[in-house]
Amino acid sequence: MKPKYKTIALDGPAASGKSTLGERLADTLGYIYLDTGVMYRAVTLAALKAGIDINNEILVTTIAENMDLDVRAPSKADGRSNDIILAGQDVTWEIRQPNVESNVSQVSAYRGVRVAMTAKQREIGKRGQIVMVGRDIGTVVLPDADLKIYLDASVEERAKRRFLELVNRGKDAVFETIMIDMQRRDQIDSTRSIAPLKPAVDAKIVNSDQMTIDEVYQYILEMIVSKK
Ligand code: C5P
Repeated sequence: MKPKYKTIALDGPAASGKSTLGERLADTLGYIYLDTGVMYRAVTLAALKAGIDINNEILVTTIAENMDLDVRAPSKADGRSNDIILAGQDVTWEIRQPNVESNVSQVSAYRGVRVAMTAKQREIGKRGQIVMVGRDIGTVVLPDADLKIYLDASVEERAKRRFLELVNRGKDAVFETIMIDMQRRDQIDSTRSIAPLKPAVDAKIVNSDQMTIDEVYQYILEMIVSKK
């Protein structure tokens, strides 16, 4: 199969299933996979580690501009899709911690942070055929992407999925807390002035409320294959 789509932009809100889907598509197509959310998480972690006040836009931006961040192919089969290396340290799981989760939307709303991350993402995008996942890939990072998908789902459904995922991993989780946090992140991500979360005008919007991730995968793969 030689699909016509060389660059695939996959956007959507938190827990819409886009990372799982993106990784699977990249795997099937033999493309590079980049989840851009990890980069904003890494900036947030770097700022927290440096003891910087997250409200200090100038200092957080300086961290983003000077950060030594590497996103590499996974070195372990422990559920990771990439190795996230910050200043030589493997922070793949640390960037998933609650203190990063609760601060990342604020950090990613800063203009300078976005400029620095967008430049890095475009650089990676030049490496070849790619599935890039995020919030603003189709609108800002790769506006000329060959295929743009916006994967949506209601906040209730997304909170339910995240809740079950945590419970299945043996973690303590409270559904209401997850849903409130998700609504708060959605609100910040979609109302920020720079690169807000929204579908590109030419994106195909897929609502996964009534679909399993397998069904979404099949549906999008067919879309890609039928264009070969
Ligand atoms: O996708 P994930 O939940 O890991 O992203 C973490 C946060 O990073 C999002 O809530 C959003 O604030 C930010 N983000 C962004 N632009 C992207 C990817 C993620 O602003 N392209």
